[in-house]
Amino acid sequence: MTENLRNYLYALFSKLSLKEREEIIAYLEGMNLNSDTALKDIVDEIKKKRFKEGFFCPHCNSKKIVRFGRYRSYQRYLCNSCKRTFTDLSKTSLHCIRSKEKFFHAARLMLEGYSLTKTAKKVKVSLPTAFSWRHRVLDGLRSLEDDNLSGIVEVDDTYFLYSQKGRRNMGRHPRKRGGKSKKRGVSSEQVCVVVARDRSDNTVSEIATFGRPSTEQIDRVLGKSLAKDSIFLSDKHRSFRGFAIKKKLKYKSLNLSKGIRVIKGIYHIQNVNSYHSRLKAWMKRFKGVATKYLSNYLHWFEFIDSIGRDKIQNAAERDLLLRACSVKAV
Ligand SMILES: [Zn+2]
Repeated sequence: MTENLRNYLYALFSKLSLKEREEIIAYLEGMNLNSDTALKDIVDEIKKKRFKEGFFCPHCNSKKIVRFGRYRSYQRYLCNSCKRTFTDLSKTSLHCIRSKEKFFHAARLMLEGYSLTKTAKKVKVSLPTAFSWRHRVLDGLRSLEDDNLSGIVEVDDTYFLYSQKGRRNMGRHPRKRGGKSKKRGVSSEQVCVVVARDRSDNTVSEIATFGRPSTEQIDRVLGKSLAKDSIFLSDKHRSFRGFAIKKKLKYKSLNLSKGIRVIKGIYHIQNVNSYHSRLKAWMKRFKGVATKYLSNYLHWFEFIDSIGRDKIQNAAERDLLLRACSVKAV
């Protein structure tokens, strides 16, 4: 760009209203993934991943597939077994989304932690659309959870207030957003989230129940994720102990009420506790999340926390989109 042209653009920019400037900035920010090549690239990658073991029908799993013209700009296929058609994007988060560029833009803003209202405004879609896209991405992330924990595994429970946010006729006086429970301690008004984290920072977090969890409820959250030879670490809570016995895991418990926070310098649950703090701090921006969506938000945070701050934004975006858009198991 020549010096003159740059000065001219600067001068022009300074003449714009704040709103106009914001629009231009939003446009420039959106350009990264807005280009056709970036979109094609992502679609190709999704295709490569989902059909890595050869073509199969997403409706019935049959391999008797033939090409069958195009649907919009995508290749369409016909399954000779169930006679249904599908495209490269059927049964992914991207299916039936017309403006994929906008969807990508919304996903990027989501990664940066923008609120729904701001996202809707920036991407120029309605609030319900922004909401439904957010949950498409989150459902995608969730269906791909396959974290396995091994070695030293720290586990602890943390609590969120039950919320019916967004529902009309709540049948009782609504609490202020993100408010506090009237009851002290852990009550049935509180949703228990169990978080387990190994020393390689693999994390499993999921809603276990209301109030204190039982051994079975902990099993439901963690049962399938722990390697047989892992060392299970928790506080003295007896359900954790019960779970470790049931699973025949090596188990160490910390008597926190007696001030025992570390055993032999390595057995502690500080990693999982600091994860809790980061999770709670991050959740604050949503000013109380409806309990029915809490699980989605937990997975969102798992993703955000796992990419770390050092990973470049573009790589993170790409990763988010690929994960979110990968096909769900039939
Ligand atoms: Zn089929």
